[in-house]
Amino acid sequence: MPADAHDHLPVAGRWFSRVALDGGVTLITEPHVDPFLRANVFVVDCGSEVLVVDGGCGIASLSAEIEDLVAGRPVTAVASHAHYDHIGSLHEFAVCLVHPAEAASLANGGDFATLRGTDFDEVFHAMAASIGYHVPDILVDAVPTPEFSIDAYVITPTTPTGLLDEGDVLVVGARSFAVLHTPGHSPGGIALLERATGMLIAGDAVYDGPLIDDDVPVYRRTIERLRALDVSVVHGGHDASFDQRRLVEICDAWLAAHPT
Ligand SMILES: [Zn+2]
Repeated sequence: MPADAHDHLPVAGRWFSRVALDGGVTLITEPHVDPFLRANVFVVDCGSEVLVVDGGCGIASLSAEIEDLVAGRPVTAVASHAHYDHIGSLHEFAVCLVHPAEAASLANGGDFATLRGTDFDEVFHAMAASIGYHVPDILVDAVPTPEFSIDAYVITPTTPTGLLDEGDVLVVGARSFAVLHTPGHSPGGIALLERATGMLIAGDAVYDGPLIDDDVPVYRRTIERLRALDVSVVHGGHDASFDQRRLVEICDAWLAAHPT
């Protein structure tokens, strides 16, 4: 019997959900992961190749989930940053790129990972509550298989195969993305801007929910920079995608709450 059998979590019939977005982008999420931890995975059809940004929590196999979308084409996986809700399945991909500042964290399996909210310390709970998150005792409402134990949950380390930094241009198949270094939520956050379409895949630098700052002065520069970008759509690391008007609103709200 698994050590956490007393949690009585149901077995999910299907772990992931997917939504086809515009521009050849498919959003993959994990609906049984608590909203606090539920991160977005974006699969981008680049013609002869496929771009995968972020890897979810690693509770079930992402590569198996997206096998039909990939259809045998080469995959370039990118870690927007190395927090554990974004990197869980990245070890399943032969090519995985990350910013140098978080390459070690990726290779360490994210430094910290848990499916129990009770494992976060009081300081974190207070911070989360102050910005509007409720972190429950258990961070999933189901398990993927009867054998899955939430207490045995770890992130499989991912060895980066390459690095991405400010000024780089990532070419995947027929599409190219400018790499923006967007620190402040984490030291090595990166966003991918497809200048041809105005699509920004932002990681946790900006999303339409409570933003978590690790370094306020550094994050302020990132928010000011993102606010000034010319974009058509922003795909954030959490929550729903949004347009430039909403990007400006989100950035202005953060700046108003963090005066210099
Ligand atoms: Zn994060």
